[in-house]
Amino acid sequence: MNTLQANDQCEEELFFVPGCLGTCWYGKYHYLEPFTGCEHDCVYCYAKGRSDVLTKIAAMNGQFTDPQIGMDPEKALAQIAKEIEKDPNIHTIKLSRYTDIFSKKFVANGFSYSVLKLLAEHPQIKRIIITTKGVPNEQILELIKTYPQKFSYSAAIKPTAKICMETNVPPQEERIRWASLAKKAGALVTVHMDPLIVGYEDTEEVLRPFFAKLKEADLNRVMFSYLLYDYTIAKNIIARFGQEFFAKLKENYLHNDRQILPLQQETTYYALKHEVKLESVKRISSLLNELGFEFVVCGLKSSDKEDVSDLKKCSHVCDGKFYA
Ligand code: SF4
Repeated sequence: MNTLQANDQCEEELFFVPGCLGTCWYGKYHYLEPFTGCEHDCVYCYAKGRSDVLTKIAAMNGQFTDPQIGMDPEKALAQIAKEIEKDPNIHTIKLSRYTDIFSKKFVANGFSYSVLKLLAEHPQIKRIIITTKGVPNEQILELIKTYPQKFSYSAAIKPTAKICMETNVPPQEERIRWASLAKKAGALVTVHMDPLIVGYEDTEEVLRPFFAKLKEADLNRVMFSYLLYDYTIAKNIIARFGQEFFAKLKENYLHNDRQILPLQQETTYYALKHEVKLESVKRISSLLNELGFEFVVCGLKSSDKEDVSDLKKCSHVCDGKFYA
């Protein structure tokens, strides 16, 4: 397919997708995917294996690690505006399921800012929920300062451990610094320790210094959850860290996979064994309590209902609104 055909095809596609039941905010939000692909290239990335992402990448003759809009940026912005006008139910936006709005390339060329500006200035848009492993810039920070009540900023940052599963992300210090600036600018800022790898990123030894850095940056809200994997993610982990590492990791996981979201077969993953998770949640929660953080553990990725009720006995389980 040539570029023109690929662009035509992408233009017909919607930028907004309604959120699904069973996830945060009980589905009362819309995902916005302003571009396809992500430079961060995390080993555990589930977006890389999703068929709708793969279809778009193939149509653009692209690569996942080189995100593309798939059309002229001005046209993309006009289409985003048109979709908002057409649907009054679009008011709470999550950025993004399959990419990161703070992609280095689109922050640098101003497209990330233009998308956020359009959303922030639009009277119909009440909430813009960003989850990022990247960093914004001064221009975006000014926008947050102008519309602080509209922004929820989730900085996905994990403690420094012996293994690192994120390939192309800015240094941890930078991400903490920008999260702190976003908080000063008035956004609701939550640090997402997600997805944690049990035995590496959940020990007191790595958590204490990390929590100290967060405190120092005045970041006192934390959400945490754990790695889930499917066949594609397992393959990527083995390719990066080797069979032996994966075999050890797998010992902590259930032998049966489970569909996480209703009606979405592609969200079928292997989850942590109940007792492994419980022990880790207890350890992390007691540290967070001791240090005076506000925190929740994600309830969505739990292996079953029994799991959630046990988690509630030793932690605060997210009610879907913690970082809304
Ligand atoms: S930041 Fe998210 S979308 Fe980007 S590679 Fe990592 S997991 Fe995938």
